[in-house]
Amino acid sequence: MIKTLAVMTSGGDSPGMNAAVRAVVRRALSRGLRVYGIYCGYDGLLRGGDLIKALNWQDVGNVLQRGGTFLGTARSEQFRTLDGRRRAVENLLDLGVEALVVIGGDGSLTGALLLSNEWPEHVEKIASVRPDLRPMVEHVPMLQVMGLPGSIDNDLIGTDMAIGVDTALNHIVRAIDDLSSTAASHQRTFVIETMGRNCGYLALAATLATGASWVLIPECSLELHWHQRMVESLDKARKTGRRHQMVVIAEGARHPDGLRMEAGEVRKILAEKLGLEVRLTVLGHVQRGGAPSAFDRILAARLGVAAVDLLVDEPGVVHRHMVGVKKNRVISTPLNEVIEKSREIQHLIDSGDFKKSLELRGGAFRTMLDLVEALTAACPSQESHGQGRVVIMTGGADSPGMNAALSIAARRLLDRGVSVLGSRDEFHGLTHGDFVDLQWNDLAGWMGRPSSDIGTARSSQVREDFGRIAENIAKFNIKGIIAIGGLDTYRHLERFIDMRTDFPELNIPVVLVPASIDNNLPGSDLCVGSDTALNNIVQAVDKIRDTAGATRRAFIVETMGKECGFLAAMSALAAGADKAYLPETGISLAELSRDVSDLKSSFESGNRMVIYMRNEVASGHYTTDFLRRLLEEESKDEFEVRSVVLGHVQRGGAPTAFDRILAGRISAAAAGALLDLMESGANDVLAFGLQEGAVASCPLVDALDQIDDPHGRPKVQWFMDLFPVVQSLSKIRSRSPGEGESIGHEPAVLRPLPAGR
Ligand code: ADP
Repeated sequence: MIKTLAVMTSGGDSPGMNAAVRAVVRRALSRGLRVYGIYCGYDGLLRGGDLIKALNWQDVGNVLQRGGTFLGTARSEQFRTLDGRRRAVENLLDLGVEALVVIGGDGSLTGALLLSNEWPEHVEKIASVRPDLRPMVEHVPMLQVMGLPGSIDNDLIGTDMAIGVDTALNHIVRAIDDLSSTAASHQRTFVIETMGRNCGYLALAATLATGASWVLIPECSLELHWHQRMVESLDKARKTGRRHQMVVIAEGARHPDGLRMEAGEVRKILAEKLGLEVRLTVLGHVQRGGAPSAFDRILAARLGVAAVDLLVDEPGVVHRHMVGVKKNRVISTPLNEVIEKSREIQHLIDSGDFKKSLELRGGAFRTMLDLVEALTAACPSQESHGQGRVVIMTGGADSPGMNAALSIAARRLLDRGVSVLGSRDEFHGLTHGDFVDLQWNDLAGWMGRPSSDIGTARSSQVREDFGRIAENIAKFNIKGIIAIGGLDTYRHLERFIDMRTDFPELNIPVVLVPASIDNNLPGSDLCVGSDTALNNIVQAVDKIRDTAGATRRAFIVETMGKECGFLAAMSALAAGADKAYLPETGISLAELSRDVSDLKSSFESGNRMVIYMRNEVASGHYTTDFLRRLLEEESKDEFEVRSVVLGHVQRGGAPTAFDRILAGRISAAAAGALLDLMESGANDVLAFGLQEGAVASCPLVDALDQIDDPHGRPKVQWFMDLFPVVQSLSKIRSRSPGEGESIGHEPAVLRPLPAGR
C-alpha cells in the first residue's frame, strides 16, 4: 500500500480546487498516509524546497469556501522539457512520494501522465548520479497519478461536470439576469461573451437558464449566411413584443469556415442590421472568481475522496487515471483516453468538423442544444390549432425554479400549437376558472424569477371541488395537466385519479414535475429548488464562519427539509460543518454525550469554531434550542454556543443555474410526453424526475409506493451513502479512525450526485 502522496493544483484556477485539495488531504490523512502539498503547480514541483510542504489536518481548514487555490497555480514552460521533469522527479523521489494527485485541466493532466510514463527512465538516470537515492528508486519504481478535472470550461471527456463549472455558470447566469434588467429598461440588445475555450457548454447552458434570445457556440455548424437568420429572428421577436434581447457567444465560437468569430463582429452586425443600440459585455475573469457553489464543493469532495480511496484500495494497480462523474456516478478513466478524446474534439472544431464534435460532446449536450434552438425562436413554430388547452399549476410550498419549469413546459407546448393556461394557486384556478393566459414572449423572462408567479397553495379539495374541476375541464376544453410541486401536490393528484369514477371529465393525462427544496419526492434524485436552497444554506454558513474571531464558538444551524435530511447532510458536506443531525438517523443521548466530549477536545486542541447542522425535525425532543442549552451548560464558559434557525431565507431568491436547467430538462420531457398522451387519448398520470443523470418517469401510483409513508420521504435515499463522508472530512476528526471504525466509503457502485446536465 502507498504511504506517501502529494497533491497540487495546476493550469487555470477554478472554484472548488480548495475543496478538492481539502478532501484529498483529509482523506489521505485519515487513511494513514503522509501528505505533501505542492505550491505553484509544476513550477513548484520542479523548484522544490519551500514549495513542497507536508500538510496536516488543520492546514486545509477554512479553505473550502475560498475561490481560487491556496496552493497556487502557475504555468511552467520548464516542465514541458525533459530536464524540467527530471528535476520534478528528483524532488518527489527525495520525499518518497509514491502517488501524485493533480487537479487541473487537460494540459495539467497531460503533464501528469508524461511524468508517470517517464518515471522509470528518470529515476534510473537520477540514481546513477545520486546513489543515496537508490533505495528510494527501489521503493518507488512507478509513480501513480490521479487527475481531478478542475476547469471551468467543461471540455474534458470522462466527466459530465468538472470542478468549477457550476460556479462559473452561476456567475454568468447572474450577470445575464442583471444585464437583462437594464436592457429591458432601455429596450436594448446585449451581446455577452462567455469563457469556455473550445467548449460551448457554459454559453449553451446559460442561454437555456436565462431565456436568452440567441447563442453561438463552437460545436454548431452555421450556414454561410448565419447572421441573416440571427438578425431576422431578433427583429421578429422585437416586433412581436420582446423588449430586450440577449445574444450569448462562447469565446470559442467559429465561422462556418472554422475561423474564430469575434463578439465585437456580432455586435456590429446586429447594430447595423437592426438599427439599434447594441452593447457588448465580455464577462472575462469574474466567471472564475468567488466562493465555489455547493455543487462544486460536493463534487470536489467526492472526487477527492474517490481518488485517495482508489489509490489505497487497489494496491496492485498502477493508476494513471482521472476520476470524474459520468451518468451520475463517480468513475475513473485512463488519463490517455481522457486526453486523446478531449483533444480530438478540439481538433474537429479547428478543422471545421462541427457535426462530429457535437456528437462527441454526448447526448445530454445535444438534447440541450435542441431545446435551446426551439426556445430561442422568435415565435412558436406552429400557430395555435385550437384543439384544446393544457393547464399548468404549481403546488405545495413554493420552491425556486418553479417559474423556470413552468416557462419551459409552456413554451414546449406553445411551440406545438397548444394553448396553455396557468391555474392560479394550484387547484384553486382549475376549481374556480381562475387562469393566467401564458404567452410565448413573456415566458422567456420567467426563467430567473423566484418562487411561482401563478401562485402555489396548500389546498385540499372536497368532492364538490372535483365536480367544479370537471366542469371547468369541459368548459375550457382542457386536454391535459402539468403539475409542478411537492408531495402534497402528488397526493392531490392521487385523489384526482380516485375521483375519475364519479367525474369522467377527469380522464385526461397528467404529468408531474418534482419541485421541493426538501428533495423528498419519489422518482427523482433531485427536485427543482433543492440546489438553490442548498446554496442559500451554504452561503449563510460561510457568513457565520466569517464571524470566527477572538471567541471560541459552537454553532447549531437549523435547516429545513421536513423529514428528509438532504439539506442538512449536503450542506454539512458543502459548508464543511463538523456534523449533521438528520431525521433518518435521529439523535440519541449516547451520541450527544460523545458529541459534547468531541466538541470539548476540539476546542482544547485549538479549534476556534465548530458548526453542527441540524435538520428541523431531526428529533422531536432534542430540539435546536435543547442542543444549544445542553452545549452551553457543558461549555463551562470555555466556549460560546449560538443557534441559528435559517428559516425561509432557504427558499428565497433567484433559482441557481442548476435548478433552472434541472427544471428545463424535466419539464421539457414531461411536456413532450403529455403531448403524446393527449394525441393517443390516454389518461396516464406520470411522475417525472431525474434518475442517475437521465430524465425518467413512472405512474404516479408507483412513485407514491416508493414513499416511506409516515415520514414522507423516499424509502431509498441516495445521499445517505454520502453522509459518512461528512464526518470523515470534518475538522473535529483530527485523529485516524480506530480499527473497525467506519470512515465513510461511498459504495463500490457509486451513487448519483447532483450532476447530470
Ligand atoms: P490546463 O491544465 O488548465 O489545461 P495548461 O494547458 O496551461 O492548463 O497546462 C498547465 C501546465 O501543465 C503547463 O504550464 C505545463 O507546465 C503543463 N503541461 C501542459 N501541457 C503539457 C505537455 N504537453 N507536456 C508537459 N507538460 C505540460
